[in-house]
Parts: sequence; structure tokens; C-alpha cells
Amino acid sequence: MLSCLERNQDPERAHEDYARVLLMVAQHGDRYARRLFVQQHTDVLGGYSAYLLHLGDGDLEAVFHDAVLSRGGVWPKTLMGLRLALPKRLEAQLEDPWKAWRALEGYAPGGLEIDPVCLMFVDPHDTPYVARNAGRTVYFCCPHCLESWETRRATGGAELRFLRIQGEAGSRA
Ligand SMILES: [Zn+2]
Repeated sequence: MLSCLERNQDPERAHEDYARVLLMVAQHGDRYARRLFVQQHTDVLGGYSAYLLHLGDGDLEAVFHDAVLSRGGVWPKTLMGLRLALPKRLEAQLEDPWKAWRALEGYAPGGLEIDPVCLMFVDPHDTPYVARNAGRTVYFCCPHCLESWETRRATGGAELRFLRIQGEAGSRA
């Protein structure tokens, strides 16, 4: 699972983590999730992120679907699909650009949750960092975010932020 603090480590692993989240957003995300994904990854997408964010909702969805074709060994059909599947800034560091996608061939993401600390997408079936809060489960990308959540929760700040992001302030247990 991609951790917010591990982005600049081993490029092969960074790309696999990136591709895993991309797959999750493509399969479970809505138009907001797709835009948030692009915003979360402007560091690797570079100038392409501005272009992607400029697309309409339908076109952006098509680019996401195009990008995840590469999981089955099919190259994306469009330049934007290719750049989303294989961000230029990562590609330059990879020995085998398609290794990450081949590794994900059998991967079925469980859904879409947002780490309320760093605002990254988290696969709820793939992270051990979990907390229970006001009757619901909250997922984190790494132990640091979980720890930060627990600390802020003690002061009353973390829960407010979580509720605002999820838009569920009225449905609290
Ligand atoms: Zn995090």
C-alpha cells in the first residue's frame, strides 16, 4: 500500500503502489476520486496533471479506463492513458516500465477509503492501519498517519476533519 511518507523510495515499488491506487480509483472511484487522484500525484505526473484536470468528467474517466488496460499487458491506446499508467517522472527511473502492472494482474481492489490525515486513497483490505471512531472504521496508509490521528483525536481535531472530507457530518452515530 502506498504510504504518504514512502513516495521517493525504490522507484519500482513506488510505481507498483501508484498503479495499485490508480486501479482502485478506476474501478471504484467517481469523478471526484479521479480528480483527487490526479491532484495527489502531481509530483510524478508533472505537467500532465494540469492537462488531466482540464479534461471533462467523461474524458477523464475514459483516460483512467485506458490507463488500466496495461494491467492485462495491453498498452494504453492514448497518450494520456499511457502517461497516467506510466508517469514520466517514474518511467525515467524504472528498469522495466511495465513490471508494476504485470505484478497487479490478479489484484482486485476492495474499494475506496480516504486516509483522513494525508488524504490519500487506501484499499481497506490491504492496510493494517485501522482505527474505530464514532461507530465507523477509519483506514490509514501508514503507522505515522494512524498515530497522528490518535494524537489529534485526543485533542478533538481529527474527527472534525474526517467528517468534513466524508461529507457525513449529519450521519454520525
Ligand atoms: Zn497517510
